[in-house]
Amino acid sequence: MKQIVVISGKGGTGKTVLTASFAALAKKKVMADCDVDAADLHLLLHPQIKERHEFKGGFKPVIDEEKCTECGKCVEVCRFSAITDHPITIEPISCEGCGVCSQICPEGAIRMEENICGEWYISDTKYGPMIHAKLGIAEENSGKLVTVVRQNAKSIAEKNKLGLVIVDGPPGIGCPVIASLSGIDLALIVTEPTLSGIHDMERVVGVAKHFGVKSACAINKYDINLEKSTEIEKWCRSEGVPVVGKIPYEPAIIKAVVQTMPPVEYSNNSASEEIENIWTQLAKELGLK
Ligand code: SF4
Ligand code: SF4
Repeated sequence: MKQIVVISGKGGTGKTVLTASFAALAKKKVMADCDVDAADLHLLLHPQIKERHEFKGGFKPVIDEEKCTECGKCVEVCRFSAITDHPITIEPISCEGCGVCSQICPEGAIRMEENICGEWYISDTKYGPMIHAKLGIAEENSGKLVTVVRQNAKSIAEKNKLGLVIVDGPPGIGCPVIASLSGIDLALIVTEPTLSGIHDMERVVGVAKHFGVKSACAINKYDINLEKSTEIEKWCRSEGVPVVGKIPYEPAIIKAVVQTMPPVEYSNNSASEEIENIWTQLAKELGLK
């Protein structure tokens, strides 16, 4: 089985538009939306949720009001100012779940409970199964949630004899990106010809290299700055990263997104043709039939 991830150094480069198009073009696959902090692949693929699962990450304190004598010791020891007194209340957004308050409480009035910090889903789409997730506001553990999404996507692909997992990766270079790169056969890095686009791409190529993942690059809206696009191509050549496509700026892509459709299904135009061309090359590289 093969796994491909579509990532970018920053958000808004067209990563999800490409992933959704690959979902429409590829045969026998499972989609995994690993951009768990700002998931949006569902907007283009319209999944029907079949299974809903809680995602638990870390622990949070819960106060037993019957036992609490309001001595204030927990307020004093909390380094994150997450506990206020009169009455004793825990502010969940400030709490880091360190557990010190529960250790210090002389009445044993604070217990640590497993924290439900999101949900993940197994869904059907017209393109095949999709695993996706939603992390609660201000919740952490997005790397762990990415791993949960990927593990389930992989096991569904294996169970149904689907030879491919297409991962919509998170932006940036943090923990969730690392979680979305592990065990991947090919990372497609989507960039734009801007100064920050180049810088962000260089960083993400570095992360992929560090973890021994082969990468390829696609330049989105390459014609808005030909000079910077040439610079990207030159840099990629020097780093041994193949540029598998240069997608022109095309208003039909925005129209497709407004119509909540993968661009390759919306209309035939120069950008959708180039996306198809990119997929042909990636499928060949992955040895897909
Ligand atoms: S340390 Fe325990 S008893 Fe004291 S205020 Fe906090 S919860 Fe209540
Ligand atoms: S678990 Fe740690 S951060 Fe949270 S309220 Fe207790 S002492 Fe403060």
